Amino acid sequence: MEEDRQEKTIDRRFFLQGAGAAALVTAMTSTFGLAGCAPAKSGTSDGNGGSSASSPKSEPSWFTSPEPIIDSEISETIETDVVVVGAGMAGISAACSSAERGLSVSVIERGETWSGRGFGMGVADSKIVRAAGLSIDRAKAQKYWIHCCGSRVNESLVSLFFNRSGEAMDWVIDKCEKGGVSVLLWDGYSRDPEFPDEPGYHVFFGGPEQSAGRDWSRDATKLIYEDSLAAGAQYYYENTVELLRKEGDRVVGAIAKSADRSYVLYKATKGVVLATGDISGDQEMLDYYAPEVAHCNSKLYTPIGFNSGDGHKMGLWAGGAMQEGHFPPMLHPQAGAYQQSAFLSVNQNGERFFNEATWVNGKSLSYLRQPGQCAYSIFDKNWTDDNLAGLPFGGGMFWDTFRVMGSGQWDAAGGQAGVDGAVESGMGFKADSLEELAVACGIPEDSFLSTVKHYNELCAAGVDTDFGKDKVFLAPVVEPPFYAMKAMPAILTIVGGLKVDTNLNVTDADGKAVEGLFAVGNVSGDFYAVDYPINIPGNSQGRCITWGYLVGETLEKA
Ligand SMILES: Cc1cc2nc3c(=O)[nH]c(=O)nc-3n(C[C@H](O)[C@H](O)[C@H](O)COP(=O)(O)OP(=O)(O)OC[C@H]3O[C@@H](n4cnc5c(N)ncnc54)[C@H](O)[C@@H]3O)c2cc1C
Repeated sequence: MEEDRQEKTIDRRFFLQGAGAAALVTAMTSTFGLAGCAPAKSGTSDGNGGSSASSPKSEPSWFTSPEPIIDSEISETIETDVVVVGAGMAGISAACSSAERGLSVSVIERGETWSGRGFGMGVADSKIVRAAGLSIDRAKAQKYWIHCCGSRVNESLVSLFFNRSGEAMDWVIDKCEKGGVSVLLWDGYSRDPEFPDEPGYHVFFGGPEQSAGRDWSRDATKLIYEDSLAAGAQYYYENTVELLRKEGDRVVGAIAKSADRSYVLYKATKGVVLATGDISGDQEMLDYYAPEVAHCNSKLYTPIGFNSGDGHKMGLWAGGAMQEGHFPPMLHPQAGAYQQSAFLSVNQNGERFFNEATWVNGKSLSYLRQPGQCAYSIFDKNWTDDNLAGLPFGGGMFWDTFRVMGSGQWDAAGGQAGVDGAVESGMGFKADSLEELAVACGIPEDSFLSTVKHYNELCAAGVDTDFGKDKVFLAPVVEPPFYAMKAMPAILTIVGGLKVDTNLNVTDADGKAVEGLFAVGNVSGDFYAVDYPINIPGNSQGRCITWGYLVGETLEKA
């Protein structure tokens, strides 16, 4: 076991280092925002994927197709080889890949411009991974993925990603090199063999979006967008697609309401690609497809309300089927303070409730189930040393937040500044005694003191008989000042959607393709199930570019 826990030897020139790492924390703070610890809203699952919060017994509204939009209602028809619905990362990648292959492309977007967010793309290979002297054990990582998804995914799609995402990433890296944006690997991946991260998370540095304090992946998205324009793709903004047009069994176009409220039919000779993102903007769909997280207090998807599951609905109406089971959520545990690591965690009742040395969704879901969807990460004066001692055996997304990536050094000053900032903003508390800390957090003092005392005994014994946390993470809480950081979950996105085959063709429940209809990015399904595996951090965006890149290849042959 100890051998498994050794850090891999790698060439660190390719990793994000020093100031870059600190900037990531700053950028994440502005993007992820800080929320207050509010009581949970109630939403009771009916056990069938529905919820009593909205439509208790009735059939979901989107199960019924709307009336068709007839020709006399259409003011204009525009015909191209390919129509892409949605100008997010997946749609832009699909448009660019198709246009670069010589196809004419229309992209229909409801917003005033393209959308993008996030910090990095996770893939199973790339020329940067290889140049760093690394390789990702695809067979092992793929097996972990399928296990994490409860064996409910389409394994052919998972194989497609593991086999082709490196090629798609190289396509993006070429654009970044040409556009003056540096692509680096993130070095904070988890070293825990039970919750492994592979070093495939590519972040973007030095571009105009990152320099302006916006999300770093926007620089890559922007370069793909610009190349799609250069290859001739046409973007139609402030056009909301409401319905697909079918002729016989084939989807032949998408009908959009334009800014002047008239209908435009965008016809496609080769195919319509749905790229409308997730369902975060539709509470009824959240209650139905993601009841476990539907009432999470913090939902971060932007632009707010734009992703109302329209592509999911239109795909169903056109004969496609939805993936089975609930949709997996992509969560993070830092809607409150940033610093948590694997320190003692207590809820508002002062009780410890889990093994804190777990992964992103493990933490987030556990916090979500606590009173007020909130817990406190408790540590003392020695927290930086304690954290550093644990990092070679754990770490990873939303844990290794303050390490100086690349050097292997802990950024003690940056870390302490982050903790002090949380105290200043009210997302954390600092006190000279445990009694005062309990009062500051509003936790019953007796319960808190007895939990800390018991935890310190476990630390002294070196065995966590309560939850089985490894002894390398058993840091006692003994020396003032004492800290309590608010730990709260947030939804980033919901990654479930329409069934697709390995051509990204939308299919019915039996796997029969709906002719002319494709789906990429979060509107497409069966790549994730049950949970969002993060052993390749950033794989949601990795999938967007891979599916977008590959659907161009399919459409070229169509
Ligand atoms: C704060 C934050 C940070 C994140 N960071 C990361 C990260 O670092 N790495 C990672 O892998 N993932 C990250 N994610 C998730 C990731 O950003 C998304 O999963 C991914 O960008 C989804 O891309 P998409 O193209 O599928 O959808 P989107 O980018 O959501 O694009 C969908 C587009 O379709 C448009 N649209 C919707 N309906 C219609 C309609 N009817 N007609 C016309 N247009 C329509 C929308 O306006 C939108 O522009 C993050 C998410 C958040 C919220």
